Amino acid sequence: MNGLEDLYREIILDHYRSPRNRGELESPPAQRVEGFNPLCGDEVVVYVQVDGDRVTDIRIAGQGCSISQSSASLMSAAVKGKTVAEARDLIRTFKAMMQVHEASLEGDGGEAEAVDPEALGELAALQGVVKFPVRIKCATLSWNTLTQGLDEAEAG
Ligand code: ZN
Repeated sequence: MNGLEDLYREIILDHYRSPRNRGELESPPAQRVEGFNPLCGDEVVVYVQVDGDRVTDIRIAGQGCSISQSSASLMSAAVKGKTVAEARDLIRTFKAMMQVHEASLEGDGGEAEAVDPEALGELAALQGVVKFPVRIKCATLSWNTLTQGLDEAEAG
């Protein structure tokens, strides 16, 4: 019996059953980016509204397994209202927690960063996924999709 693992499972199930920020935003002005994880069949559509340097709104659509959907919900709650820089920091921290060593889309940096569990809050619930490597792409799908959306928002 592990109390923390039970708590983490509860958080993941809660976000799967009651996903936060579910829906769509008008695009444009919002960026609409699709992500797909062929290993599991997960689809995620991220609508992200960036005004100035801030993520003012975010919506999630798509379908997939409980890990992919709860991760997207947790992500949306975590980055909404944050600055783009803060959102990118959170993406980096989350991916460091997931220990994803796949080729980086960003290409900047690459130095190892210490993960501060305090900074992750409920997102720490997803760290149990690391024990199941095949599921890591389920957990990181929405985050990679958000990165693409932020890149497009800043480019355009
Ligand atoms: Zn999945």
